[in-house]
Amino acid sequence: MNEATDWDVLVVGAGPAGSTAARGAAEGGARVLVVERRPVVGVPVQCAEFLPRRVALDLRLPKAAIAQDVVGTMTHLPGGEATSRRNPGCILNREVADALLAERAVEAGAKLMTSTQATAIGRTSGGSIRVELEAMGGQEVPSHTTAAVLVGADGPRSLVGQGVGSTNTRKIVAHQVTVDLHDPLVETEVYLHPVYKGGYGWLFPKGDLANVGVGVDRALGGDPKAALQHLVGTLGDRIGEVRRTTGGLIPVNGPLQGVHGNILLAGDAAGHTHPITGGGIHQAVEAGRLAGEAAAARTTGEIDDLDGYETAFRSLFQIHLGRAVARRHELEEAWAGVEGDPEAWERLARRSWIGYKEYYKEKGR
Ligand SMILES: Cc1cc2nc3c(=O)[nH]c(=O)nc-3n(C[C@H](O)[C@H](O)[C@H](O)COP(=O)(O)OP(=O)(O)OC[C@H]3O[C@@H](n4cnc5c(N)ncnc54)[C@H](O)[C@@H]3O)c2cc1C
Repeated sequence: MNEATDWDVLVVGAGPAGSTAARGAAEGGARVLVVERRPVVGVPVQCAEFLPRRVALDLRLPKAAIAQDVVGTMTHLPGGEATSRRNPGCILNREVADALLAERAVEAGAKLMTSTQATAIGRTSGGSIRVELEAMGGQEVPSHTTAAVLVGADGPRSLVGQGVGSTNTRKIVAHQVTVDLHDPLVETEVYLHPVYKGGYGWLFPKGDLANVGVGVDRALGGDPKAALQHLVGTLGDRIGEVRRTTGGLIPVNGPLQGVHGNILLAGDAAGHTHPITGGGIHQAVEAGRLAGEAAAARTTGEIDDLDGYETAFRSLFQIHLGRAVARRHELEEAWAGVEGDPEAWERLARRSWIGYKEYYKEKGR
């Protein structure tokens, strides 16, 4: 791969995975371009904004990126049972955190082009990457660019993933409102209910606001609108006026093949989201860091191929995500059979939620 290219590393998407990949690659000495279709990185926020505390500490997030700390999670079952579990974390101001990660990539030497959409990926005659670009605003954007390595960090419906035939096959549909919260909370709340088919409801406190949302599996008959109405009804007068509405897709198939020759996938594009909780920021930043480092090492000739990226990601998350994938499969297979049977449904709910000890038991033990 000695062909001259515009860039050593091209990153598509400036979410947590893309910005971290760009930073890692730039710090490794690569010439890096990041293209992001949004005009402003991180806006609009499509997230409930929970991040484990140790990840926030690792990322050295400043106060402005954190709306509040939480100490645990209270999980509610339909009969009224509530179980608290220690789960220290914070609720982010995600737009601040995403902007900061992008800023760090730029400080490390990466060039960031916002309002720029990648529309197709292909190869040059020499085997490098060629990506077609389109301006989303009024600015000048080259019609295409070339790079030695491409990192697809372009979210759940990744164009890069489609280009290499590696796409998320199962996705949860999430709807969320940010509402006034009348009494402050120090725990996140999770609601399991047959109405939240294949998913769950959440209330994540953010000072005098809260992110209240649901994720459901349409393949199991889930209706996100009805589910959100149900959750808002359950929360009653604890919450008030709706300040913002958002939503999005959350991959739940588990990690896809992340290395395709000189193309890497990272974060949601690679199915790195936790298939039970839907949490993906932690995996996205770790995958991004590893992808960026590997991409830089490949372009400087330090390594011959990018396979180590996959191995490194799996060594960090295999146990955690492997169990979640297994529980997801059990949940999908059993859901329809337990819907009309509250006891069987509750057994399945406990088996498929991280807040219960049943989740951690291996089958038959
Ligand atoms: C409603 C909801 C609630 C969630 N809550 C949480 C939570 O509380 N905690 C948690 O850890 N995770 C949560 N997640 C998941 C989390 O948001 C993702 O896992 C995380 O954002 C993944 O980061 P990423 O960088 O891989 O992708 P993204 O953050 O999706 O970033 C991808 C970027 O690529 C850009 N892009 C896409 N296509 C193109 C293109 N063709 N050209 C140029 N740019 C492109 C997009 O504009 C976007 O900026 C939630 C998700 C949803 C939908």
